Amino acid sequence: MSDKGERGLIDWIRGQKKSCKSALVNIGIGDDLAGLRIGDEQLLYGCDQVLDGVHFRLNDCGAKAAGRKALARNLSDVAAMAAVPVVAVASVALPENMATKQAQEIVSGMNELAEEFNCPVIGGDLGSWTGALAISVSVLAKGAGLEPVKRSGAKEGDAIMVTGELGGSILGKHLVFKPLVKEARALAEQIKLHAMIDVSDGLAVDLHHITNESKCGAEIRAEKIPVSEAAKKLGPEPLEHSLADGEDYELLFTLSEKEVHKAQSILGSLGVKVSHIGRIIKQGVILTDENGNQRELSATGFEHFVKKAQSRKRNG
Ligand SMILES: [Mg+2]
Repeated sequence: MSDKGERGLIDWIRGQKKSCKSALVNIGIGDDLAGLRIGDEQLLYGCDQVLDGVHFRLNDCGAKAAGRKALARNLSDVAAMAAVPVVAVASVALPENMATKQAQEIVSGMNELAEEFNCPVIGGDLGSWTGALAISVSVLAKGAGLEPVKRSGAKEGDAIMVTGELGGSILGKHLVFKPLVKEARALAEQIKLHAMIDVSDGLAVDLHHITNESKCGAEIRAEKIPVSEAAKKLGPEPLEHSLADGEDYELLFTLSEKEVHKAQSILGSLGVKVSHIGRIIKQGVILTDENGNQRELSATGFEHFVKKAQSRKRNG
């Protein structure tokens, strides 16, 4: 993985057409979930895993939080497509020295969330090994009368919006976030959302996922980005954390400019903050600061300088 990276491997897998195509599939690799049309039903299917030492530290957070997070990440992908979760299955690799009580806590963490989201965990697989705890959850969801919102529908001129606040989720939010399933659904029921993703890799990376899939660019305004209190606690450059930290599981979406107020009012009525952070442009992913300085935003954060604002003449 060190030579090409995760993204390179995913691109290679996408190229292996024979193994990942089926006549039933209408949304393939490259979105939050894959889509299947079976009869009249639009189904969505995907999986996500959490690993001790990568996505959580078992000794710090405990087994229950790890179990909850494994399902929550999947439910956030369901939210990203404005779908309704149906069922999940889980596959768990337990460390061989793990106490039964701890293993039970993984299940309770998952089940509490499953109940809240009406998405029961109906089966799976258990194994034990010499490695660390690894939990993989697979989720099935349905369109339930709405077309899934893909990453690929952003159009030039669209407004770019993001819910909540970003950055510093490592201080706690990554374990306790609430998947925005109901909120995404409420939006999609009343507004034509053009593209949507959940912010799991970080704003900069996830914005690139939208622009890559939609074959467009984006300009976001630094002063509009909702910087979280946690990001401010992490050091002198909170904006960088808001751009680059992952695992906020907020919704990043694009829609026609004229629908911005409606989206704000729908989310406001659900008690969810939303920020209008920029617009879809033809190409490039650009961050503009309040002085008009522009930087190209790489998939990981700042990259290179594009345009400096002309210095203003001083009065007198
Ligand atoms: Mg996602």
